[in-house]
Amino acid sequence: MNNTNIRIPLVDLHLQHQPIQSQLQLAIQAVLEKGDFVLGQALKDFEAAFAAASGTEYGVGVASGTDAIALGLQACDIGMGDEVILPANTFVATLIGVLRAGAKPILVDCDEQTALIDLEAAARAVTPRTKAIIPVHLYGQMVSPKKLFDFADTYKILVFEDAAQAHLAQRDGYRAGSVGIAAAFSFYPSKNLGAFGDGGMVVTRDPDVAEKLIRLRNYGASQKYVHIEVGTNSRLDTLQAAVLHSKLPYLPEWNRKRLNTAQQYDTELAPLASGGIIPIQNHSGEGHVYHLYVIRIDETSPIERQQLQEKLATMGIQTGIHYPIPCHLQPAFINLGYEAGDFPHAEKLGQQILSLPMYPGLTSSHVKEVVAAIALHLSTEQQKSLCF
Ligand SMILES: *Cc1c(COP(=O)(O)O)cnc(C)c1O
Repeated sequence: MNNTNIRIPLVDLHLQHQPIQSQLQLAIQAVLEKGDFVLGQALKDFEAAFAAASGTEYGVGVASGTDAIALGLQACDIGMGDEVILPANTFVATLIGVLRAGAKPILVDCDEQTALIDLEAAARAVTPRTKAIIPVHLYGQMVSPKKLFDFADTYKILVFEDAAQAHLAQRDGYRAGSVGIAAAFSFYPSKNLGAFGDGGMVVTRDPDVAEKLIRLRNYGASQKYVHIEVGTNSRLDTLQAAVLHSKLPYLPEWNRKRLNTAQQYDTELAPLASGGIIPIQNHSGEGHVYHLYVIRIDETSPIERQQLQEKLATMGIQTGIHYPIPCHLQPAFINLGYEAGDFPHAEKLGQQILSLPMYPGLTSSHVKEVVAAIALHLSTEQQKSLCF
């Protein structure tokens, strides 16, 4: 698709940054003057602020969300010989993190309505080697904390949250990041809280986990030039931390705007249910932070997903698919031994889902336009099928 033809993009970061541009520049300038580019003061300040905002104690900034998962699991002593349960319909980084920690990933199916991990399927996947479960708070909706606490209690395993899409999300009074032993966040630019490049963080309430992470991200050093384990180099840049800290106070408002937009989509899309347009369900009320707004074009619809996506594109409406191929069917992970048919809900969602434009600043008239465009193509296809 030609970029110049996009009228309503999937994501628009300019709208976020323009109004606070001078603040961002001041924050960057301050780091330039101080010159503490690696493990500097602005990083420490942001780590404390983000951990507190997530309802937990410690934050350890790392280079990406993927590293936050890999190093976070390692810091929780999850690795070789351990099985870790995760949903098949997540971004591959969740799976890569588990593999990089040296653990064995055990994929399970998701719930078809919410796209969140199916905890009953997870229960069936528990073995004596299961050490942890990774609930992915997909699209910005938390997996039920109450159910996760029960699950962890019943099977005596750890919960490690993948909160890469769920900054400040809430459910049952808990914040994303405060449910498990630790949680991974990503600050990839388009996430709800995004840096000007890559970044990530692990948050935890456990001082030992935090301390181990501080070593792991810094070559395994307990003090300068004393290395007590095989760590790596994975730090959140001071500059990125300064940018993120400047943006953090706006995040609640941005998330609220996303929620409002989602509620408008819900309302306006409701009449299209008979045309097989079914939004992914929100079971967590106002705590959903809608990193993405995702609909299903189900088997009763007169139009196919790809056809609809192409038609919307010709009208300048950009959409996405998160994600078209579930982890177990990715070529890189064939050796895990899964095959087509193993996770029917995840596979079906991969074929049916479509992410609609969603970002703070998306106007209500744009939402109307997107929904009207979908309705138009639905009725055109419906009429065509009536001709036969
Ligand atoms: C973005 C994302 C990650 C990976 O984060 P990066 O910062 O891109 O490495 C992991 N899990 C999920 C669910 C994500 O959306």
